[in-house]
Amino acid sequence: MFCEVKAKERIGVINPIFTCQPCGAQYASIGIKECIGIVHGGQGCVMFVRLLFSQHFKESFELASSSLHEDGAVFGATHRVEEAVDVLLMRYPHVKVIPIISTCSTEVIGDDIDGVVLKLNNGLLKEKYAGREVHLIPIHTPSFKGSQVTGYDVAVLDFVSHFAKKSEPNGKINLITGWVNPGDVTALKHLLAEMQVPATVLFEIESFDSPLMPDGNHVSHGDTTIADLTDTANALGTIALNRYEGGKAARYLESEFDVPAVIGPTPIGIRNTDTFLHNLKKMTGKPIPESLVRERGIAIDALTDLIHMFLADKKVAIYGHPDLVIGLAQFCLDLEMKPVLLLLGDDNTSYPDDPRIIELQKNVDYKMEIITNADLWELENRIKNEGLELDLILGHSKGRFVSIDNNIPMVRVGFPTYDRAGLYRHPVVGYAGAIWLAEAMANTIFTDMEYKKNKEWVLNVW
Ligand code: SF4
Repeated sequence: MFCEVKAKERIGVINPIFTCQPCGAQYASIGIKECIGIVHGGQGCVMFVRLLFSQHFKESFELASSSLHEDGAVFGATHRVEEAVDVLLMRYPHVKVIPIISTCSTEVIGDDIDGVVLKLNNGLLKEKYAGREVHLIPIHTPSFKGSQVTGYDVAVLDFVSHFAKKSEPNGKINLITGWVNPGDVTALKHLLAEMQVPATVLFEIESFDSPLMPDGNHVSHGDTTIADLTDTANALGTIALNRYEGGKAARYLESEFDVPAVIGPTPIGIRNTDTFLHNLKKMTGKPIPESLVRERGIAIDALTDLIHMFLADKKVAIYGHPDLVIGLAQFCLDLEMKPVLLLLGDDNTSYPDDPRIIELQKNVDYKMEIITNADLWELENRIKNEGLELDLILGHSKGRFVSIDNNIPMVRVGFPTYDRAGLYRHPVVGYAGAIWLAEAMANTIFTDMEYKKNKEWVLNVW
């Protein structure tokens, strides 16, 4: 077999690719309007996650902590959740949704966040906040398993299953974007608008690219409302773009409310964007308009200019969120590049059963490795000690030193990308994303050719 899928053999992690589950639940929660999550754990479980969000988006986000201390870690600290909910409701009169997000320490000591939610619903909310709409939602995200990716998936399911309620059909589709950037949401909304498909875009974070307005600074939050989440049960169907970031919620809506679900493909590259549009067409009966055929043509033209001269046969390593990594690998293959190493940073044992990975295994005719539960040492060690030769690295900013130390050009993609300006504004999905990705890869390779004096003269004559 040319394409091998295997788990990292080492015990322990050196330079993790992901952070822990509560981070994913926090990312889902900031996508909801009038929502502030309380993370039940130490302050660092929020502080470092907020820092990552702020570094990536260069914006501020609201997240709260129950601020667990040593005594709570020994004797239990559900009383801290009770106080935190009260303080939050007093200080933020607009807040209606409060997920209670557990962490490693509070799961280990067995704090009963479901029980405390029941107690608060029957006590504090009835007595002190009678008449106010408040939803307390327990979200279990122990960090000793999974990753930020599974945390996001679990939280999306918990939010959807809390709110979804059957009433009249709304004629819309639910679009669960997964963990994307504002530029991706803009690109997806553009495709929906061209197709004239009415949609509820869920965990909608386009406004994370926030303006600085004359009336002063403010915090960023997403635009998905309680009404949006409630109405998910009445949609024509659900498309979850990412299998591991929203797939569970799509399946839930199908099994609970007969809302048909399509999971994937992540619309990265021409092929996957075509499939996404065909899925929209099938679900809604709306035709694919000429305007999108033209956009597709512009994208194919842009790619054709680059493939044979610059991208073909370039060896690439890719790491990050699994749907992103697989989508990028598929796109690289379409560009005649050679993704030789894919690093999936968590212990999800279902990766080898992913049909896209099985397809890669069937079709790749050179040596490719897919490492699960991987860390960035898997990449660095192969380069430094095992002779792995790469022309390009695709991944988030946490791997920047592997690129810098080993003189390998790198395109920042995924989350977080804090060491390059404004990347959250550029889509990687849709035809626009295909153009941006291919041109970003080509331009990065051009700069590398110039710095290394490696056939840089070619750039005068193409
Ligand atoms: S690993 Fe545990 S302590 Fe550290 S941030 Fe995650 S939940 Fe908090």
